[in-house]
Amino acid sequence: MSLVVQKYGGSSLADAAKIRNVAQRIGRTRDAGNDVVSVVSAMGDTTDELIELAGQVSGRPEPREMDLLLSTGELVSCTLIAMALRTLGYEAISLSGAQAGIRTDTSYGRARIALMQPERVARELEQGRIVIVAGFQGITDDLDITTLGRGGSDTTAVALAASLEAARCEVYTDVEGIYTADPRLVPKARKLDEVDYEEMLELASYGAKMNARSIEMGMFYKVPILVASSFSDAPGTLIHEGADMNTTVGEIRNRIRGIAVDTNVAKITVRGVVDRPGIAAGLFEPLSAADVSVDVIVQNASVDGTTDMTFTVKRTDLGRALEVTRLVARQLGNGEVASADSLAKLSIVGTGMQDAPGYASTMFRTLADNGINIDMITTSEIRITCIVDEAQVGMAARALHDSFHLDSPTQVP
Ligand code: ASP
Ligand code: MG
Repeated sequence: MSLVVQKYGGSSLADAAKIRNVAQRIGRTRDAGNDVVSVVSAMGDTTDELIELAGQVSGRPEPREMDLLLSTGELVSCTLIAMALRTLGYEAISLSGAQAGIRTDTSYGRARIALMQPERVARELEQGRIVIVAGFQGITDDLDITTLGRGGSDTTAVALAASLEAARCEVYTDVEGIYTADPRLVPKARKLDEVDYEEMLELASYGAKMNARSIEMGMFYKVPILVASSFSDAPGTLIHEGADMNTTVGEIRNRIRGIAVDTNVAKITVRGVVDRPGIAAGLFEPLSAADVSVDVIVQNASVDGTTDMTFTVKRTDLGRALEVTRLVARQLGNGEVASADSLAKLSIVGTGMQDAPGYASTMFRTLADNGINIDMITTSEIRITCIVDEAQVGMAARALHDSFHLDSPTQVP
């Protein structure tokens, strides 16, 4: 018997009929001879509704109360799934994150898992039960309930799969897997059969949905993760190590895996910064202290001992980032701070790019031929990112999808 951990997202659990559908799917996995642990998110938009509700009774809800409140969403769905399974004749039990032994640090709202103690889960499995675990939550050493950050049920599922040494972790959602691009933006987007963890990490943090921490954890503990639809039996996308490594030598394949778009981008420029040691630290330390994460940074070559420093932040952090930057710029004796918020981040991603030249030039040529101006450029070993005007990003993504032949798995760009 092999152990499978399955996670179901909120849209797959939005009402009673969907809950019964999920219970049936879990039952079928059991019937196929597997031990099953199922991790569930809150029903539909429950988490958003609870956040909204808290906002109506308090301007600044206490983080501790907030986490205890939000943890209730997943308790509702895990108990209902257990009931539905029992109605279908299966032995099932629901457990909160705390009962499942998920121990975290004390950072409310984005707690990190410190230790997994899934003995209770293992005991229930030994008794022949299907175990349904409330996602997105854990417990501190002081017995306070924490949540793991938005989309945190993915992390719960991968952590349980890793600690219980499950054969794999299956993540069920409302789409059929990971695509070469966002299908709403690029109609020709193709579902991928497999992606590498690293590629998925880039795709996840650059737009495609799936909690980034869960991918990091899967990569670290080598848990294969299958992303598939809870509404169909389509095969989904397998996230695993060395995707494509078994491709025979000489076989033609597309080295670009996908295109990621992120529109939550703004940029800040500080002009006339004196070019001396400590300036970057002087600016970026206060930003990090204010919990603003800075992404692309460009420092121009200095002219007459001064330079311009431009960087991007999340658009949702722009207000806070500007406050801090203006203050620091004043202290540094330079005044001018400018910002722009109608930008987007456009990336091509693929581990295959590492040892093959020409991808950057193809990307730039495609954008140029389509009259798209590149504002900033940044690269990693497996990604090339351009910051472009948000109004043009859909057109740019479609053009890149075409020029890299992403609708075909084997064509070489
Ligand atoms: N319910 C939580 C959220 O909406 C956690 C999750 O869905 O994974 O973020
Ligand atoms: Mg949710």
